[in-house]
Amino acid sequence: MRECRLRAAARLCGGASASGDNCIPEQFRRHLPHVADDRRYTNTGHRGSVIVLNINTNFRMLIDGRLVGGIETFGVVNPATEDEFAQAPNCSLEQMESALGAARRAFPDWRGVPAEERAARLIRIAERIMEHRDTLATLLTREQGKPLADAKAEIGRSADWLIRTSQLRVPDKSGTSEGGRAFDIHHVPVGVVAAISPWNFPVTLSIWKLAPALLAGNVIVIKPSPFTPLTMLKIGEIIADVVPFGVVNILSGDDRLGPWLTAHPQVDKIAFTGSTKTGKAVMRSAAGTLKRITLELGGNDPAIVMPDADIDAVAEKLFWSAFRNAGQVCVASKRIYVHDSMYDNLRDAMLRIAALYPPGNGEHGVSRIGPLQNRVQYDRVRELIADAKANGYVVLSAPGQLPEKGYFIAPTFIDNPPDTARVVVEEQFGPVVPLMCYRTMDEVVRRANDSDAGLGASVWGQDVESAAQLAARLDAGSVWINSGSTLDPFVPFAGHKQSGLGVENGLDGLLEYCNVQVIMR
Ligand code: NAD
Repeated sequence: MRECRLRAAARLCGGASASGDNCIPEQFRRHLPHVADDRRYTNTGHRGSVIVLNINTNFRMLIDGRLVGGIETFGVVNPATEDEFAQAPNCSLEQMESALGAARRAFPDWRGVPAEERAARLIRIAERIMEHRDTLATLLTREQGKPLADAKAEIGRSADWLIRTSQLRVPDKSGTSEGGRAFDIHHVPVGVVAAISPWNFPVTLSIWKLAPALLAGNVIVIKPSPFTPLTMLKIGEIIADVVPFGVVNILSGDDRLGPWLTAHPQVDKIAFTGSTKTGKAVMRSAAGTLKRITLELGGNDPAIVMPDADIDAVAEKLFWSAFRNAGQVCVASKRIYVHDSMYDNLRDAMLRIAALYPPGNGEHGVSRIGPLQNRVQYDRVRELIADAKANGYVVLSAPGQLPEKGYFIAPTFIDNPPDTARVVVEEQFGPVVPLMCYRTMDEVVRRANDSDAGLGASVWGQDVESAAQLAARLDAGSVWINSGSTLDPFVPFAGHKQSGLGVENGLDGLLEYCNVQVIMR
Protein backbone atom coordinates (compact mmCIF):
# COMPACT_ATOMS: atom_id res chain seq x y z
CA MET A 1 0.00 0.00 0.00
CA ARG A 2 2.74 2.38 1.08
CA GLU A 3 4.88 1.49 -1.93
CA CYS A 4 1.91 2.17 -4.19
CA ARG A 5 1.42 5.59 -2.66
CA LEU A 6 5.09 6.43 -3.00
CA ARG A 7 5.15 5.27 -6.62
CA ALA A 8 2.06 7.31 -7.36
CA ALA A 9 3.65 10.36 -5.77
CA ALA A 10 6.87 9.81 -7.70
CA ARG A 11 4.92 9.49 -10.96
CA LEU A 12 3.17 12.75 -10.28
CA CYS A 13 6.56 14.31 -9.64
CA GLY A 14 7.56 13.26 -13.11
CA GLY A 15 10.82 12.04 -11.67
CA ALA A 16 12.00 15.61 -11.07
CA SER A 17 14.30 16.40 -8.23
CA ALA A 18 11.97 16.61 -5.31
CA SER A 19 12.76 20.01 -3.94
CA GLY A 20 10.18 22.34 -5.44
CA ASP A 21 6.48 22.87 -5.86
CA ASN A 22 6.42 21.19 -9.25
CA CYS A 23 7.16 18.01 -7.32
CA ILE A 24 4.00 18.09 -5.23
CA PRO A 25 1.57 15.33 -6.15
CA GLU A 26 -1.54 16.71 -7.82
CA GLN A 27 -4.01 15.39 -5.24
CA PHE A 28 -1.94 17.31 -2.75
CA ARG A 29 -1.80 20.59 -4.60
CA ARG A 30 -5.51 21.02 -3.96
CA HIS A 31 -4.69 21.59 -0.32
CA LEU A 32 -1.91 24.05 -1.04
CA PRO A 33 -3.57 27.09 -2.53
CA HIS A 34 -0.70 29.41 -1.81
CA VAL A 35 2.09 27.32 -3.13
CA ALA A 36 1.63 28.20 -6.76
CA ASP A 37 2.36 31.82 -5.85
CA ASP A 38 5.10 30.83 -3.59
CA ARG A 39 7.87 29.72 -5.90
CA ARG A 40 10.14 32.35 -4.46
CA TYR A 41 10.77 29.87 -1.68
CA THR A 42 11.77 27.04 -3.90
CA ASN A 43 13.80 27.00 -7.07
CA THR A 44 14.01 30.61 -8.08
CA GLY A 45 16.52 31.56 -5.44
CA HIS A 46 14.36 34.49 -4.39
CA ARG A 47 14.04 34.66 -0.65
CA GLY A 48 11.82 37.66 -0.11
CA SER A 49 8.74 37.45 2.08
CA VAL A 50 5.50 39.36 1.87
CA ILE A 51 4.42 38.47 5.36
CA VAL A 52 4.49 41.35 7.79
CA LEU A 53 4.52 39.99 11.28
CA ASN A 54 2.74 41.96 13.98
CA ILE A 55 4.00 40.67 17.29
CA ASN A 56 1.89 43.00 19.41
CA THR A 57 -1.53 41.56 18.76
CA ASN A 58 -3.70 39.15 16.78
CA PHE A 59 -2.35 35.88 18.12
CA ARG A 60 -4.13 33.03 16.39
CA MET A 61 -3.90 29.26 16.27
CA LEU A 62 -3.10 27.30 13.14
CA ILE A 63 -5.88 24.78 12.55
CA ASP A 64 -6.37 23.00 9.24
CA GLY A 65 -4.28 25.61 7.41
CA ARG A 66 -6.28 28.53 8.77
CA LEU A 67 -5.45 31.08 11.44
CA VAL A 68 -8.11 30.91 14.11
CA GLY A 69 -8.74 33.05 17.18
CA GLY A 70 -10.09 31.73 20.45
CA ILE A 71 -13.62 32.14 21.70
CA GLU A 72 -11.86 32.93 24.96
CA THR A 73 -8.35 34.23 25.53
CA PHE A 74 -5.86 34.20 28.37
CA GLY A 75 -3.20 36.73 29.32
CA VAL A 76 0.53 36.25 28.77
CA VAL A 77 2.87 38.01 31.20
CA ASN A 78 6.27 39.53 30.48
CA PRO A 79 8.35 38.15 33.36
CA ALA A 80 10.75 41.09 33.23
CA THR A 81 7.98 43.63 33.90
CA GLU A 82 5.15 41.50 35.33
CA ASP A 83 2.83 43.17 32.80
CA GLU A 84 0.21 41.14 30.98
CA PHE A 85 1.17 42.26 27.49
CA ALA A 86 -0.77 39.97 25.15
CA GLN A 87 -3.81 37.73 24.90
CA ALA A 88 -3.46 34.20 23.55
CA PRO A 89 -6.39 32.14 22.24
CA ASN A 90 -7.73 29.62 24.70
CA CYS A 91 -8.36 26.56 22.55
CA SER A 92 -11.80 25.04 23.06
CA LEU A 93 -12.49 21.32 23.01
CA GLU A 94 -14.19 21.74 19.64
CA GLN A 95 -11.16 23.57 18.20
CA MET A 96 -8.84 20.83 19.41
CA GLU A 97 -11.15 18.22 17.84
CA SER A 98 -11.06 20.22 14.64
CA ALA A 99 -7.23 20.29 14.65
CA LEU A 100 -7.03 16.57 15.28
CA GLY A 101 -9.61 15.89 12.57
CA ALA A 102 -7.64 18.01 10.10
CA ALA A 103 -4.42 16.23 11.01
CA ARG A 104 -6.09 12.85 10.59
CA ARG A 105 -7.41 13.83 7.16
CA ALA A 106 -4.02 15.17 6.06
CA PHE A 107 -2.09 12.09 7.14
CA PRO A 108 -2.77 9.65 4.26
CA ASP A 109 -1.54 12.12 1.62
CA TRP A 110 1.37 13.48 3.60
CA ARG A 111 2.81 10.04 4.32
CA GLY A 112 2.76 9.37 0.58
CA VAL A 113 4.82 12.46 -0.26
CA PRO A 114 8.44 11.53 -1.05
CA ALA A 115 10.86 12.04 1.81
CA GLU A 116 12.84 14.54 -0.27
CA GLU A 117 9.78 16.73 -0.62
CA ARG A 118 8.98 16.49 3.06
CA ALA A 119 12.58 17.46 3.77
CA ALA A 120 12.23 20.42 1.39
CA ARG A 121 9.24 21.61 3.41
CA LEU A 122 11.31 21.57 6.59
CA ILE A 123 13.92 23.72 4.87
CA ARG A 124 11.23 26.13 3.77
CA ILE A 125 9.91 26.39 7.31
CA ALA A 126 13.48 27.18 8.40
CA GLU A 127 13.77 29.87 5.75
CA ARG A 128 10.56 31.52 6.87
CA ILE A 129 11.70 31.45 10.48
CA MET A 130 15.04 33.00 9.55
CA GLU A 131 13.35 35.75 7.54
CA HIS A 132 11.55 36.80 10.71
CA ARG A 133 14.28 35.90 13.17
CA ASP A 134 14.72 39.29 14.81
CA THR A 135 10.99 39.95 15.17
CA LEU A 136 10.36 36.49 16.58
CA ALA A 137 13.31 36.89 18.97
CA THR A 138 11.86 40.12 20.38
CA LEU A 139 8.58 38.34 21.05
CA LEU A 140 10.39 35.37 22.57
CA THR A 141 12.25 37.66 24.95
CA ARG A 142 9.01 39.39 25.97
CA GLU A 143 7.21 36.19 26.80
CA GLN A 144 10.08 34.04 28.05
CA GLY A 145 12.42 36.61 29.59
CA LYS A 146 15.70 35.41 28.09
CA PRO A 147 18.09 38.09 26.81
CA LEU A 148 17.58 39.14 23.21
CA ALA A 149 20.87 37.60 22.09
CA ASP A 150 19.81 34.24 23.55
CA ALA A 151 16.38 34.56 21.96
CA LYS A 152 17.97 35.19 18.56
CA ALA A 153 20.21 32.19 19.15
CA GLU A 154 17.18 30.03 19.99
CA ILE A 155 15.35 31.08 16.83
CA GLY A 156 18.47 30.62 14.68
CA ARG A 157 19.27 27.25 16.22
CA SER A 158 15.70 26.08 15.62
CA ALA A 159 15.99 26.96 11.93
CA ASP A 160 19.34 25.21 11.75
CA TRP A 161 17.82 22.19 13.49
CA LEU A 162 15.13 21.96 10.81
CA ILE A 163 17.68 22.15 8.01
CA ARG A 164 20.05 19.61 9.50
CA THR A 165 17.30 17.21 10.57
CA SER A 166 15.98 17.34 7.01
CA GLN A 167 19.15 15.50 5.95
CA LEU A 168 18.24 12.40 7.97
CA ARG A 169 16.39 9.55 6.28
CA VAL A 170 14.38 6.73 7.75
CA PRO A 171 16.20 3.54 6.73
CA ASP A 172 14.51 0.56 5.09
CA LYS A 173 16.15 -2.86 5.15
CA SER A 174 15.72 -6.09 3.21
CA GLY A 175 16.93 -9.62 3.92
CA THR A 176 16.19 -13.29 3.70
CA SER A 177 15.00 -15.35 6.66
CA GLU A 178 16.47 -18.71 7.66
CA GLY A 179 13.52 -20.36 5.93
CA GLY A 180 14.49 -18.63 2.68
CA ARG A 181 11.71 -16.05 2.67
CA ALA A 182 12.49 -12.53 1.56
CA PHE A 183 11.52 -9.76 3.94
CA ASP A 184 11.50 -5.98 3.89
CA ILE A 185 11.66 -3.97 7.09
CA HIS A 186 10.01 -0.59 6.78
CA HIS A 187 9.65 2.21 9.28
CA VAL A 188 6.22 3.67 8.68
CA PRO A 189 4.90 6.90 10.22
CA VAL A 190 2.89 6.57 13.40
CA GLY A 191 0.14 9.05 12.45
CA VAL A 192 -1.06 12.03 14.45
CA VAL A 193 1.58 13.35 16.87
CA ALA A 194 0.73 15.61 19.80
CA ALA A 195 3.80 17.67 20.71
CA ILE A 196 3.77 19.27 24.15
CA SER A 197 6.55 21.64 25.13
CA PRO A 198 7.62 23.59 28.23
CA TRP A 199 8.31 27.30 28.76
CA ASN A 200 12.11 27.37 28.95
CA PHE A 201 12.84 26.86 25.22
CA PRO A 202 9.37 27.19 23.66
CA VAL A 203 10.60 27.27 20.06
CA THR A 204 13.54 24.87 20.15
CA LEU A 205 11.64 22.17 21.98
CA SER A 206 8.64 22.41 19.64
CA ILE A 207 10.89 22.28 16.55
CA TRP A 208 12.71 19.25 17.99
CA LYS A 209 9.38 17.46 17.58
CA LEU A 210 8.03 19.06 14.43
CA ALA A 211 11.12 18.29 12.33
CA PRO A 212 11.41 14.52 12.84
CA ALA A 213 7.62 14.03 12.98
CA LEU A 214 7.05 15.62 9.57
CA LEU A 215 10.17 14.14 8.02
CA ALA A 216 9.02 10.63 8.94
CA GLY A 217 5.61 11.29 7.35
CA ASN A 218 3.55 12.12 10.41
CA VAL A 219 1.24 15.06 10.98
CA ILE A 220 1.40 17.13 14.13
CA VAL A 221 -0.55 19.18 16.65
CA ILE A 222 1.78 21.37 18.71
CA LYS A 223 0.85 22.68 22.14
CA PRO A 224 3.33 25.14 23.67
CA SER A 225 3.18 25.99 27.36
CA PRO A 226 0.43 28.47 28.34
CA PHE A 227 3.23 30.59 29.86
CA THR A 228 4.94 30.99 26.45
CA PRO A 229 2.55 30.29 23.56
CA LEU A 230 3.10 33.45 21.50
CA THR A 231 6.24 32.84 19.44
CA MET A 232 5.03 29.45 18.27
CA LEU A 233 1.67 30.99 17.33
CA LYS A 234 3.45 33.57 15.18
CA ILE A 235 5.57 30.82 13.64
CA GLY A 236 2.27 29.14 12.76
CA GLU A 237 1.27 32.33 10.97
CA ILE A 238 4.39 32.44 8.81
CA ILE A 239 4.41 28.76 7.90
CA ALA A 240 0.67 28.33 7.31
CA ASP A 241 1.13 28.04 3.55
CA VAL A 242 4.33 26.02 3.61
CA VAL A 243 2.73 22.68 4.38
CA PRO A 244 -0.63 21.26 3.29
CA PHE A 245 -3.69 21.98 5.40
CA GLY A 246 -3.75 19.96 8.59
CA VAL A 247 -0.14 18.73 8.46
CA VAL A 248 0.95 21.24 11.12
CA ASN A 249 -1.51 22.60 13.68
CA ILE A 250 -0.50 24.89 16.54
CA LEU A 251 -2.83 25.36 19.50
CA SER A 252 -2.64 27.43 22.65
CA GLY A 253 -4.74 26.76 25.67
CA ASP A 254 -4.96 26.65 29.41
CA ASP A 255 -4.28 23.68 31.69
CA ARG A 256 -7.11 21.64 30.20
CA LEU A 257 -5.59 21.37 26.75
CA GLY A 258 -2.66 19.05 27.57
CA PRO A 259 -4.81 16.38 29.27
CA TRP A 260 -7.42 16.64 26.48
CA LEU A 261 -4.74 15.90 23.92
CA THR A 262 -3.00 13.09 25.76
CA ALA A 263 -6.29 11.25 26.38
CA HIS A 264 -7.68 11.69 22.87
CA PRO A 265 -8.06 8.51 20.80
CA GLN A 266 -7.15 10.40 17.60
CA VAL A 267 -3.62 10.99 18.91
CA ASP A 268 -1.22 8.18 18.01
CA LYS A 269 1.92 9.50 19.65
CA ILE A 270 2.81 12.02 22.31
CA ALA A 271 6.16 13.80 22.19
CA PHE A 272 6.44 15.51 25.54
CA THR A 273 9.06 17.71 27.17
CA GLY A 274 8.41 18.95 30.67
CA SER A 275 8.64 18.03 34.31
CA THR A 276 8.89 14.46 35.56
CA LYS A 277 5.63 14.88 37.49
CA THR A 278 3.70 15.88 34.37
CA GLY A 279 5.52 13.21 32.33
CA LYS A 280 4.07 10.55 34.64
CA ALA A 281 0.56 12.00 34.17
CA VAL A 282 1.09 11.94 30.40
CA MET A 283 2.16 8.30 30.55
CA ARG A 284 -0.92 7.35 32.55
CA SER A 285 -3.16 9.19 30.14
CA ALA A 286 -1.48 7.67 27.08
CA ALA A 287 -2.14 4.16 28.39
CA GLY A 288 -5.83 4.48 27.51
CA THR A 289 -5.18 3.88 23.81
CA LEU A 290 -1.58 2.67 24.15
CA LYS A 291 -0.15 5.73 22.44
CA ARG A 292 3.54 5.82 21.61
CA ILE A 293 5.31 8.22 23.93
CA THR A 294 8.60 10.04 24.09
CA LEU A 295 9.19 11.77 27.40
CA GLU A 296 12.04 14.25 27.96
CA LEU A 297 11.75 15.14 31.61
CA GLY A 298 13.47 16.89 34.46
CA GLY A 299 17.16 16.62 35.28
CA ASN A 300 19.39 17.21 38.29
CA ASP A 301 22.70 17.16 36.48
CA PRO A 302 25.89 16.76 38.50
CA ALA A 303 29.04 18.59 37.38
CA ILE A 304 32.25 17.06 38.74
CA VAL A 305 35.40 19.17 38.88
CA MET A 306 38.40 16.81 39.06
CA PRO A 307 41.57 17.51 41.06
CA ASP A 308 43.59 18.37 37.93
CA ALA A 309 41.09 20.95 36.61
CA ASP A 310 42.43 24.37 35.67
CA ILE A 311 40.26 26.74 37.67
CA ASP A 312 40.74 29.68 35.30
CA ALA A 313 39.73 27.55 32.34
CA VAL A 314 36.77 25.96 34.09
CA ALA A 315 35.12 28.66 36.21
CA GLU A 316 33.43 30.77 33.54
CA LYS A 317 32.28 27.80 31.45
CA LEU A 318 30.89 26.11 34.55
CA PHE A 319 29.17 29.33 35.58
CA TRP A 320 27.27 29.47 32.29
CA SER A 321 26.57 25.77 32.41
CA ALA A 322 24.66 26.50 35.64
CA PHE A 323 23.18 29.94 34.95
CA ARG A 324 22.40 30.11 31.24
CA ASN A 325 18.72 30.95 30.72
CA ALA A 326 18.69 31.86 34.44
CA GLY A 327 19.30 28.19 35.24
CA GLN A 328 16.09 27.16 33.48
CA VAL A 329 17.71 24.50 31.33
CA CYS A 330 16.92 20.82 31.70
CA VAL A 331 20.62 19.98 31.30
CA ALA A 332 22.02 22.85 33.37
CA SER A 333 24.65 21.94 35.96
CA LYS A 334 22.43 21.68 39.03
CA ARG A 335 24.79 20.09 41.58
CA ILE A 336 28.46 21.09 41.38
CA TYR A 337 30.97 18.76 43.09
CA VAL A 338 34.45 20.27 43.46
CA HIS A 339 37.56 18.45 44.67
CA ASP A 340 38.59 19.43 48.18
CA SER A 341 41.99 20.69 46.95
CA MET A 342 40.44 23.54 44.95
CA TYR A 343 36.98 24.02 46.45
CA ASP A 344 37.57 27.46 48.01
CA ASN A 345 39.36 28.84 44.95
CA LEU A 346 36.70 27.70 42.51
CA ARG A 347 33.85 28.96 44.71
CA ASP A 348 35.50 32.40 44.95
CA ALA A 349 36.17 32.49 41.20
CA MET A 350 32.51 31.66 40.47
CA LEU A 351 31.36 34.41 42.84
CA ARG A 352 33.60 36.93 41.08
CA ILE A 353 32.04 35.91 37.76
CA ALA A 354 28.53 36.22 39.22
CA ALA A 355 29.29 39.83 40.12
CA LEU A 356 29.89 40.57 36.42
CA TYR A 357 26.44 39.43 35.34
CA PRO A 358 23.62 41.07 37.31
CA PRO A 359 20.20 40.04 35.99
CA GLY A 360 18.10 42.52 34.03
CA ASN A 361 15.45 42.95 31.35
CA GLY A 362 16.79 41.04 28.36
CA GLU A 363 14.94 43.18 25.85
CA HIS A 364 17.30 46.07 26.55
CA GLY A 365 20.25 44.08 25.33
CA VAL A 366 22.58 44.68 28.28
CA SER A 367 22.01 41.86 30.71
CA ARG A 368 23.01 38.28 29.98
CA ILE A 369 20.73 36.83 32.67
CA GLY A 370 16.99 37.39 32.53
CA PRO A 371 14.21 36.79 35.03
CA LEU A 372 12.62 33.51 36.04
CA GLN A 373 9.95 32.80 33.48
CA ASN A 374 6.89 32.85 35.72
CA ARG A 375 5.69 33.69 39.20
CA VAL A 376 5.29 30.04 40.28
CA GLN A 377 8.88 29.22 39.38
CA TYR A 378 10.14 32.47 40.94
CA ASP A 379 8.40 31.65 44.21
CA ARG A 380 9.68 28.09 44.12
CA VAL A 381 13.33 29.11 43.68
CA ARG A 382 13.03 31.77 46.41
CA GLU A 383 11.53 29.13 48.66
CA LEU A 384 14.58 26.88 48.06
CA ILE A 385 16.89 29.75 49.02
CA ALA A 386 14.78 30.47 52.11
CA ASP A 387 14.91 26.79 53.04
CA ALA A 388 18.72 26.81 52.76
CA LYS A 389 18.93 29.88 55.00
CA ALA A 390 16.50 28.39 57.51
CA ASN A 391 18.70 25.31 57.74
CA GLY A 392 21.79 27.41 58.44
CA TYR A 393 23.55 26.76 55.12
CA VAL A 394 25.77 29.53 53.78
CA VAL A 395 24.03 31.34 50.91
CA LEU A 396 26.32 33.37 48.63
CA SER A 397 25.47 35.83 45.89
CA ALA A 398 27.15 38.90 44.44
CA PRO A 399 26.02 42.20 45.99
CA GLY A 400 23.95 44.42 43.72
CA GLN A 401 20.52 45.85 43.02
CA LEU A 402 17.86 43.84 41.23
CA PRO A 403 15.29 45.57 39.02
CA GLU A 404 12.30 46.73 41.04
CA LYS A 405 9.79 44.72 39.03
CA GLY A 406 10.14 41.33 37.41
CA TYR A 407 10.93 37.82 38.58
CA PHE A 408 14.67 38.41 39.01
CA ILE A 409 16.96 36.40 41.24
CA ALA A 410 20.72 36.98 41.27
CA PRO A 411 22.97 33.96 40.65
CA THR A 412 23.23 32.28 44.05
CA PHE A 413 25.45 29.53 45.47
CA ILE A 414 24.75 27.36 48.48
CA ASP A 415 28.13 26.71 50.08
CA ASN A 416 28.69 23.00 50.69
CA PRO A 417 25.25 21.96 51.96
CA PRO A 418 24.65 18.34 53.02
CA ASP A 419 23.47 15.84 50.38
CA THR A 420 20.06 15.81 52.01
CA ALA A 421 19.45 19.56 51.43
CA ARG A 422 16.39 20.28 49.31
CA VAL A 423 18.46 22.30 46.85
CA VAL A 424 20.60 19.19 46.25
CA VAL A 425 17.83 16.61 46.08
CA GLU A 426 15.28 18.62 44.05
CA GLU A 427 15.64 20.07 40.58
CA GLN A 428 15.77 23.81 41.28
CA PHE A 429 15.38 25.00 37.65
CA GLY A 430 16.62 28.46 38.50
CA PRO A 431 19.72 30.49 39.37
CA VAL A 432 20.63 28.81 42.66
CA VAL A 433 23.23 26.07 42.70
CA PRO A 434 24.77 23.99 45.49
CA LEU A 435 28.59 23.76 45.44
CA MET A 436 29.81 20.66 47.25
CA CYS A 437 33.21 19.43 48.28
CA TYR A 438 34.40 15.82 47.72
CA ARG A 439 37.61 13.90 48.40
CA THR A 440 37.66 10.63 46.41
CA MET A 441 36.41 9.53 43.01
CA ASP A 442 34.35 6.64 44.40
CA GLU A 443 32.70 9.04 46.82
CA VAL A 444 31.77 11.58 44.16
CA VAL A 445 30.44 8.92 41.77
CA ARG A 446 28.20 7.53 44.52
CA ARG A 447 26.91 10.99 45.44
CA ALA A 448 26.41 12.10 41.84
CA ASN A 449 24.45 8.92 41.04
CA ASP A 450 22.33 9.18 44.17
CA SER A 451 19.37 10.75 42.35
CA ASP A 452 16.16 9.69 40.64
CA ALA A 453 17.19 11.84 37.69
CA GLY A 454 19.64 10.79 34.99
CA LEU A 455 19.42 13.33 32.21
CA GLY A 456 22.93 14.79 31.82
CA ALA A 457 26.21 15.29 33.67
CA SER A 458 29.56 16.94 33.10
CA VAL A 459 33.14 16.21 34.10
CA TRP A 460 35.83 18.89 34.16
CA GLY A 461 39.59 18.12 34.18
CA GLN A 462 42.76 18.41 32.13
CA ASP A 463 43.33 14.67 31.70
CA VAL A 464 40.52 13.93 29.27
CA GLU A 465 41.06 10.15 29.46
CA SER A 466 40.53 10.12 33.25
CA ALA A 467 37.53 12.40 32.79
CA ALA A 468 36.06 9.98 30.21
CA GLN A 469 36.56 7.05 32.60
CA LEU A 470 34.70 8.94 35.30
CA ALA A 471 31.99 9.93 32.79
CA ALA A 472 31.32 6.27 31.99
CA ARG A 473 30.51 5.63 35.66
CA LEU A 474 27.74 8.25 35.78
CA ASP A 475 24.05 7.34 35.44
CA ALA A 476 23.13 9.88 32.79
CA GLY A 477 22.01 9.88 29.18
CA SER A 478 24.61 12.45 28.11
CA VAL A 479 27.90 13.30 29.79
CA TRP A 480 29.92 16.27 28.55
CA ILE A 481 33.63 16.62 29.22
CA ASN A 482 34.94 20.14 29.79
CA SER A 483 31.79 21.82 28.56
CA GLY A 484 28.23 22.48 29.51
CA SER A 485 25.54 20.75 27.50
CA THR A 486 26.08 20.60 23.75
CA LEU A 487 23.14 19.26 21.78
CA ASP A 488 23.17 18.31 18.12
CA PRO A 489 20.44 17.24 15.68
CA PHE A 490 22.50 14.19 14.71
CA VAL A 491 23.28 13.08 18.27
CA PRO A 492 20.66 11.21 20.30
CA PHE A 493 19.45 12.76 23.54
CA ALA A 494 17.79 10.49 26.09
CA GLY A 495 17.26 10.62 29.81
CA HIS A 496 17.99 7.69 32.10
CA LYS A 497 15.95 6.81 35.20
CA GLN A 498 13.10 9.28 35.83
CA SER A 499 14.49 11.82 33.36
CA GLY A 500 12.69 10.30 30.46
CA LEU A 501 11.63 7.56 28.17
CA GLY A 502 12.74 7.19 24.58
CA VAL A 503 15.05 9.37 22.55
CA GLU A 504 14.98 12.72 20.79
CA ASN A 505 17.30 13.77 17.94
CA GLY A 506 19.51 11.80 15.60
CA LEU A 507 18.39 8.69 13.77
CA ASP A 508 17.24 7.12 17.06
CA GLY A 509 15.02 10.14 17.63
CA LEU A 510 13.62 10.00 14.10
CA LEU A 511 12.73 6.32 14.49
CA GLU A 512 10.63 7.20 17.55
CA TYR A 513 8.16 8.69 15.07
CA CYS A 514 7.80 5.36 13.22
CA ASN A 515 6.27 1.96 13.65
CA VAL A 516 8.18 -1.03 12.35
CA GLN A 517 6.48 -2.90 9.54
CA VAL A 518 7.79 -6.17 8.15
CA ILE A 519 6.63 -7.46 4.79
CA MET A 520 7.54 -11.10 4.21
CA ARG A 521 7.16 -12.66 0.80
P1 NAD B 1 5.46 21.13 32.93
O1 NAD B 1 5.57 19.67 33.05
O2 NAD B 1 4.73 21.88 33.98
O3 NAD B 1 4.74 21.54 31.56
C1 NAD B 1 5.21 21.08 30.32
C2 NAD B 1 4.07 21.10 29.33
O4 NAD B 1 3.09 20.14 29.71
C3 NAD B 1 3.33 22.43 29.22
O5 NAD B 1 2.99 22.66 27.88
C4 NAD B 1 2.09 22.18 30.06
O6 NAD B 1 1.01 23.00 29.68
C5 NAD B 1 1.81 20.73 29.74
N1 NAD B 1 1.02 20.01 30.74
C6 NAD B 1 0.87 20.30 32.06
N2 NAD B 1 0.11 19.35 32.65
C7 NAD B 1 -0.22 18.46 31.70
C8 NAD B 1 -0.97 17.24 31.70
N3 NAD B 1 -1.54 16.76 32.81
N4 NAD B 1 -1.08 16.56 30.55
C9 NAD B 1 -0.49 17.01 29.42
N5 NAD B 1 0.23 18.16 29.36
C10 NAD B 1 0.37 18.87 30.48
O7 NAD B 1 6.95 21.66 32.74
P2 NAD B 1 7.45 23.15 32.68
O8 NAD B 1 7.33 23.72 34.06
O9 NAD B 1 6.81 23.84 31.53
O10 NAD B 1 9.00 22.94 32.31
C11 NAD B 1 9.99 22.74 33.25
C12 NAD B 1 10.36 21.27 33.33
O11 NAD B 1 10.66 20.76 32.04
C13 NAD B 1 11.62 21.04 34.14
O12 NAD B 1 11.44 19.93 34.98
C14 NAD B 1 12.68 20.73 33.11
O13 NAD B 1 13.77 19.98 33.56
C15 NAD B 1 11.87 20.01 32.09
N6 NAD B 1 12.54 20.05 30.79
C16 NAD B 1 13.07 18.90 30.30
C17 NAD B 1 13.75 18.92 29.10
C18 NAD B 1 14.34 17.66 28.52
O14 NAD B 1 14.64 17.65 27.34
N7 NAD B 1 14.50 16.61 29.29
C19 NAD B 1 13.89 20.11 28.40
C20 NAD B 1 13.35 21.27 28.95
C21 NAD B 1 12.66 21.23 30.14
